[in-house]
Amino acid sequence: MEGKYEFEKKFRDQVLRCSSCGFCRAVCPVFGLTKRPAFNARGKMLVLKEVMDGNIELDDQLIETLFQCTTCASCSEQCPSGVQPPEIMKQVRKDMVHKGSCHPVFEGMNQILQEHTNIYAEDEPEDFERARNKKAEYVFFIGCVGSYREDEATMATLDILDHLKVDYTLIDEVCCSGALEDVGFEINGRLAEKNVELILETGAKAVITGCPYCSRTFNGKPQYQGLKDAGVEIIHISQFLKDFDLGVKTDKAVTYHDPCDLGRHCDIYEEPRETIRKIAPNFVEMRHNRADALCCGAGGGVRGAFAKNSIAMARRRLEEVEEAGAEIVLTECNSCVHNLNNAKLRAQKFKIYTTSQFLWQLLEEQD
Ligand code: SF4
Ligand code: SF4
Repeated sequence: MEGKYEFEKKFRDQVLRCSSCGFCRAVCPVFGLTKRPAFNARGKMLVLKEVMDGNIELDDQLIETLFQCTTCASCSEQCPSGVQPPEIMKQVRKDMVHKGSCHPVFEGMNQILQEHTNIYAEDEPEDFERARNKKAEYVFFIGCVGSYREDEATMATLDILDHLKVDYTLIDEVCCSGALEDVGFEINGRLAEKNVELILETGAKAVITGCPYCSRTFNGKPQYQGLKDAGVEIIHISQFLKDFDLGVKTDKAVTYHDPCDLGRHCDIYEEPRETIRKIAPNFVEMRHNRADALCCGAGGGVRGAFAKNSIAMARRRLEEVEEAGAEIVLTECNSCVHNLNNAKLRAQKFKIYTTSQFLWQLLEEQD
């Protein structure tokens, strides 16, 4: 049966396959916080069944229910029926935007990327004192959060690449715009074209990304197919660094937070741990780790649109850091670092870094 919305055409079978078993309830960060049944995947599928039956419309009244999802994919991981709620939600949001029902923050984000080159609408990026747009073996692609909010972490990553004598260049990068797809819009073709053109001009054999979301976007979206066609490999910095031993160690208790975009979405769990195990004999896992890791609450536009809840989700993650007795939390996503640091309470004495930032700190302490 053809439906009136695109999500019905693409995902009707999946929505109907949901047996309301509720396995997804226990893992949904939004439900864990709000306890509102309509906010977890089970509730969202029930709402969508009503929409498909014509009992309710996709309209403004559903914005809070359907736009409040971090696309963390914890539910997909647990679902015995093979339902992929984040993919369904992304299409539902597009349908809602098409009908004129959109969260104002997401509308603003799309508007910003029509007029600017990054999600913060800032036109003076940090220059990081490195050459740009030159011929090199690798391009290091920073991403918006690493360029405009977590620049210290980015500087440390570049220092590591220099220390390892990697032949790389930065480019005059613009937002990969992958996040637009999470919030109801299409990837911005103008921005994608510019990135592809600048990367290809360097002649690089690979792009190393500082952000797992950029890596996902370059690897999976048709707007970036030009990179694949030219044989350019896309890797995340954690995949690149695992092959090196920097010869530094810490005796501190270190734990690792799996970013949803790198873990559940890209299946990269062991590479970051390989690097961390080399430097931290006192490595401890948090109770929820790898595919079961709790989301930091930042994804899917939730940090921008539902900021209070986003911070509260990050606090739930940080409770597990305390429980594990860690002094250092490492992760591989600037967005996670940003949200977790914003959520950290003054009484919580542990420190939060990207792995490469911490590595650079150890190297500096050694000198
Ligand atoms: S993707 Fe994450 S936040 Fe969204 S419904 Fe599934 S578990 Fe909840
Ligand atoms: S785990 Fe899957 S089948 Fe069960 S309620 Fe959640 S989405 Fe539906």
